[in-house]
Amino acid sequence: YQTLAEADPDVAKIIEDETWRQFSGLELIASENLTSLAVMEANGSMLTNKYSEGLPGARYYGGNEHIDILENLCRDRALKAFNLDPKVWGVNVQPYSGSTANFAAFTALINPQDRIMGLGLPDGGHLTHGYYTAKKKITASSIYFQSFPYRVTPGTGLIDYEQLTTNAGLYKPRLIVCGASAYPRDWDYQRLRKIADTNGSYLLSDMAHISGLVAAGEQNSPFEYCDVVTTTTHKTLRGPRAGLIFFRKDKESDIEQRVNQAVFPACQGGPHNNTIAGIAVALKQAADPAFKAYAKQVIANARTIAKVLSGHDYKLQTDGTDNHLVLWDLRPLGLTGSKIEKICDEAHITVNKNAVSGDTSAQVPGGVRVGLAALTSRSMKEAEMETVAAFLHRAVQIALTAQKEAGDKLLKNFVSAYNNKDNESAKLLEQ
Ligand code: PLP
Repeated sequence: YQTLAEADPDVAKIIEDETWRQFSGLELIASENLTSLAVMEANGSMLTNKYSEGLPGARYYGGNEHIDILENLCRDRALKAFNLDPKVWGVNVQPYSGSTANFAAFTALINPQDRIMGLGLPDGGHLTHGYYTAKKKITASSIYFQSFPYRVTPGTGLIDYEQLTTNAGLYKPRLIVCGASAYPRDWDYQRLRKIADTNGSYLLSDMAHISGLVAAGEQNSPFEYCDVVTTTTHKTLRGPRAGLIFFRKDKESDIEQRVNQAVFPACQGGPHNNTIAGIAVALKQAADPAFKAYAKQVIANARTIAKVLSGHDYKLQTDGTDNHLVLWDLRPLGLTGSKIEKICDEAHITVNKNAVSGDTSAQVPGGVRVGLAALTSRSMKEAEMETVAAFLHRAVQIALTAQKEAGDKLLKNFVSAYNNKDNESAKLLEQ
């Protein structure tokens, strides 16, 4: 037996460096969090060795007596975490990630080339909700299904439910997807249900970003109105990287079988049992009162950041937040999200550039997404958030100063070229 450091010092060093990076810098990526040591211990356990295709009690491999207990425990805890009646709801805990959970759920509910409507990517939606560009269908969700995205209202940044109602009436989608990666407000599931019912659509909520807040009762619950609910387990829920698919058992009796078969064998092979153990641990932790306090604090922290940034007259999508993230629109300042991401990186503050409504480029978007799940896991509260917001303000001031200096220098060069009768520069200057 060798430790990792003995067997592979190169990888051990990378892990050590990354651990240091995560705790010495400020991690503000809205889709990330810091899992507990207990989750990581389960995730790095012997369970990684075991094959267990199938479901508890019906496996394609022997030796699954302990794995069956684990998967059942994880399923029970997943239902309990969201206060779900096991007679009405079931859950598949095997998806390897949020993307595979979504694709498996689509596979279960609809047929190839059926129509779907999800929130557009530049409006805060996720790639897997039907994203395509003018040039190309770049995600499986737009290659295998016909995608008709809905949008937010340009002025307010809020979901345009009116337009969605009209367009759903025209397109008659088989599936409406709600949920987002960069939307700072809660969802009107009742209204979405009505739109779905009017048009004979399934309603799927991908609550990946907010599932920890939903478990804590700090956001509306999608379960009352949706047919299927998917989530990642590693964002606000604070588990290992994976996905879950919840399905209604009562509404259409075979959804359960269709979801389970879509996960395996349609989209996946053997479940990652080490990950399922990590999910089970995270779900136990999410049921603890301390987790409810954590979720409340996440929102309070996001609101503090929003308040300070708004105080500097910066433009925030929807003018604030009700959840764990703030979407900061830098376009009025003439800055790009990429620039602020780079400057923050230099200061070990990790944010990500993000499209804001109206953006046409995902490569050079006009916004930055700031998420507070990870810093709140480090016990930071409102006072620390004031400091973090001051750092972000300073990053923007640096970018603006650099931009002005670069502009001044460019102008000076042109003027001197003009004075020196450099015709090419003079022409440019005139333009
Ligand atoms: N769904 C939403 C709303 C997301 O934001 C993400 C990722 O950030 C995913 C799905 C995909 O999750 P994964 O990266 O685990 O595939």
